[in-house]
Amino acid sequence: MHWIWWILILFWTGGFAWAADTARTALRNRHERKLELMEAAKQERLALEAAHRSPEPVCGCTHHLAKHDRRGRCHEQVEVPTAWDENKKPLRYEAGQCNCQQYVGPQPLSQVYAEELTDRWPTDPPAEEKGPPTT
Ligand SMILES: [Zn+2]
Ligand SMILES: [Zn+2]
Repeated sequence: MHWIWWILILFWTGGFAWAADTARTALRNRHERKLELMEAAKQERLALEAAHRSPEPVCGCTHHLAKHDRRGRCHEQVEVPTAWDENKKPLRYEAGQCNCQQYVGPQPLSQVYAEELTDRWPTDPPAEEKGPPTT
C-alpha cells in the first residue's frame, strides 16, 4: 500500500475521534441546558400553583367549613373546660359542641345568590308583544 494511504487513514480516524468528541460534548451541553430549562419550568409551575391555590376553607373556629351546617353552626366536637385551678388553667374537660356561628358578614356574590336560582327561572319565554292588528 502506498504510504499516503496510511496518512489518510490516520487523518480519518483522528478526524472521526475528534468529530465524535465534539458531538458528544455538544450533546452533553445541550442535555444540561435542557435539564436547566426543565428545572426552571418546574420552579415556575410550582410558584404559579402556590399563587393560584385558594386558601383552605377553614372557619375562624379552626374547624373546616365542611363541619358547619347551612346556618353556619359548627358541628365539630370540642373539649369544654369544666373546672379551673386558681391560675385559671383548665383542670377538667368534657366533650361539647363547638358553638361557632361561622362568618356572618358579607359573602361573595356567587355564594349568596347561587341557591336562589334553582327552579325560579321563568320557564316560558316572555310573551311577544302584540302590535296593533294589521288591516
Ligand atoms: Zn366555625
Ligand atoms: Zn368549630
